[in-house]
Amino acid sequence: MTATLTVSLKAIADNYTLLKKKAAPAECAVVVKADAYGLGLEPVARTLWKAGARFFYVALLEEAMALRGILPGAKIAVLNGLDSANKKEKEYYQLISVMNHRGNLHGILHIDTGMNRLGFTLEEAEKLPGGLASGWVMSHLACADMPEHPLNDEQYRRFNQVRKLFPAAQASLANSSGIFLKKCFHFDQVRPGCALYGINPTPAKKNPMQPVVTLTAPILQNRRIEQNGTVGYGAVTKVKKGMRLATIGLGYADGLLRSIENNGEVMIAGKPAAILGRISMDLIVADISHLPEQEYKEVELMGKKILVDQVAQAAGTIGYEVLTRLGSRLKRVYL
Ligand SMILES: *Cc1c(COP(=O)(O)O)cnc(C)c1O
Repeated sequence: MTATLTVSLKAIADNYTLLKKKAAPAECAVVVKADAYGLGLEPVARTLWKAGARFFYVALLEEAMALRGILPGAKIAVLNGLDSANKKEKEYYQLISVMNHRGNLHGILHIDTGMNRLGFTLEEAEKLPGGLASGWVMSHLACADMPEHPLNDEQYRRFNQVRKLFPAAQASLANSSGIFLKKCFHFDQVRPGCALYGINPTPAKKNPMQPVVTLTAPILQNRRIEQNGTVGYGAVTKVKKGMRLATIGLGYADGLLRSIENNGEVMIAGKPAAILGRISMDLIVADISHLPEQEYKEVELMGKKILVDQVAQAAGTIGYEVLTRLGSRLKRVYL
């Protein structure tokens, strides 16, 4: 038995439908960068296309080229921009360049309204010819997952200011979390990524999205501690005589972050069991002392009981990182 990642394509399609309804009449584009947040570009892109998505965002040219091979009819935009060296590919693969600076090929005009990361500043935008953004103008929110954060309204205000410079252009501002802000944040098109994949776009509230991923792994050994000692590398975690442990065949090479050390939980026979000691490359250990004594065969590390956001919290990170780190040697099953 091997560690297995099960991706519910049905849940992704349902999540898309929910976001699309919420954003209507704005268009619901989809973000499938980084191998569809680690879940597999091809099955995810096909699923979203079938569910009705027509406008796809990736980060890189290589991702766009791969996506064109999967979806001949999709609109494909490259967030990190294309430059003159990519002219041939842009034409051949019929790609849309996001124009983040003067060096990028023309396309969707990206304005930085307060994130100070990528895109034209307001001052630069004012100097651009008004005809430049005849198609689309976009910006990206820094704090959309915190609805009360004052930067949301500030970015909204600056975005509207820029839109006046390019009155013919359509506008796109909201990521997943932005869809759950006020309706006025939707403009002509929203660009969800994480929410499609089950990450909570409203961290302060119950997750409106369906869970998408299930991560299971085999238990290689059920063992009893014969004398007081420690478990795992560095001997950082004490174990006492009489404790029972399960050794699980999955580790940081599969994407389970080392920062989960002594902090996460797994589900064994429907009950939570604490992860003990450090995460090894191919192994972790869970405390099963509280469970009925028997040979356990399998654990669930992520799924309906332990959501991706909970794993992220145990690791001191965000769901995006948990998903995009999922290892390439996991067996992948698509439902
Ligand atoms: C990644 C990305 C998105 C999607 O963000 P989520 O928070 O995953 O919904 C939207 N727009 C831009 C510019 C991005 O880089």
